[in-house]
Amino acid sequence: MSKTIGVDLGGSHVLAAVVDESGTILERAERDLTDHDPDVVVKAIVQAIDEVLEASKSVTAIGLGSPGNIDLSTGFVAYSPNFNWRGVALGEKLRAQVSLPMFFANDARCATLAEYTFGTGVGTKNFVLLTLGTGIGGGIVADGKLVLGNTFGAGEIGHHQIRATDGFICNCGKTGCFEAQASGTGLIRHALAIAHSFPRSTLVSGKPEKLGSKSIRKAAEAADPHGTAAWSRYTDDLARGIANVIAFVNPETIALGGGVAGAGAFMIDAVLPKVEVLTTMAPRGHTKLVTATLGNDAGAIGAATMAARGGHESPA
Ligand SMILES: [Zn+2]
Repeated sequence: MSKTIGVDLGGSHVLAAVVDESGTILERAERDLTDHDPDVVVKAIVQAIDEVLEASKSVTAIGLGSPGNIDLSTGFVAYSPNFNWRGVALGEKLRAQVSLPMFFANDARCATLAEYTFGTGVGTKNFVLLTLGTGIGGGIVADGKLVLGNTFGAGEIGHHQIRATDGFICNCGKTGCFEAQASGTGLIRHALAIAHSFPRSTLVSGKPEKLGSKSIRKAAEAADPHGTAAWSRYTDDLARGIANVIAFVNPETIALGGGVAGAGAFMIDAVLPKVEVLTTMAPRGHTKLVTATLGNDAGAIGAATMAARGGHESPA
């Protein structure tokens, strides 16, 4: 059975994993990242790759998923706000130090490929992953193929605006992006924005920066008035974005991953009726909304899967 390495480059750490054809991780190595200087990051990636190669020799190729806009052929990162990179020749630097063939893609597209191939996307042809974390990562599979776009910017679902006049400011600079409103960070911002209406709320009795999305969700589950109001605003915005995704892609399944999606049925049951109301031009009741199953390893598994297939040109 052929084995490849998948590398998931995150803001605070890099994971390299040896993955087999069934999507199972056989070996893994991680390095913390405290410095985003490209050469420091490259060194950490190479160290993690070397560590798993020591343990598992018969590897045929390496795939790497990076945040931001990355050229799939050259690995050139045009823009990565997480790393504050503009125009970094990541692929060239890595290929100079790694002898195996290397393939590149955006990290969220890699996670989508993994969830499509080994998770909740199995059996579908039209599939979307939305990862609700600090931001919203995502990816689209249309007619069985991962959608990448003309300049590798397809699937940036987090940056379509859903509240362009009255929304929160997004990391990308626009107002009211889906990510600003409906990520885990968005849930916190909703709770803080209405805190003045709940003077006896226990949610914000501590320092506002200590408020986490999980405590708000738990408060909503316990029918706390502040938590419930924040959750309602949050699920309104989440539904708005999901309904837009249905209008653009009309997928069979939309999988929700990331920390907030840990709410499971409590989230799905709140969001799905709102999505149905906002779905106008496709038949209602035909999009499955589910919780993603691969978790934090999806990026590495997807990068390895891409490498096993010889890069992005092969069908998903
Ligand atoms: Zn944005």
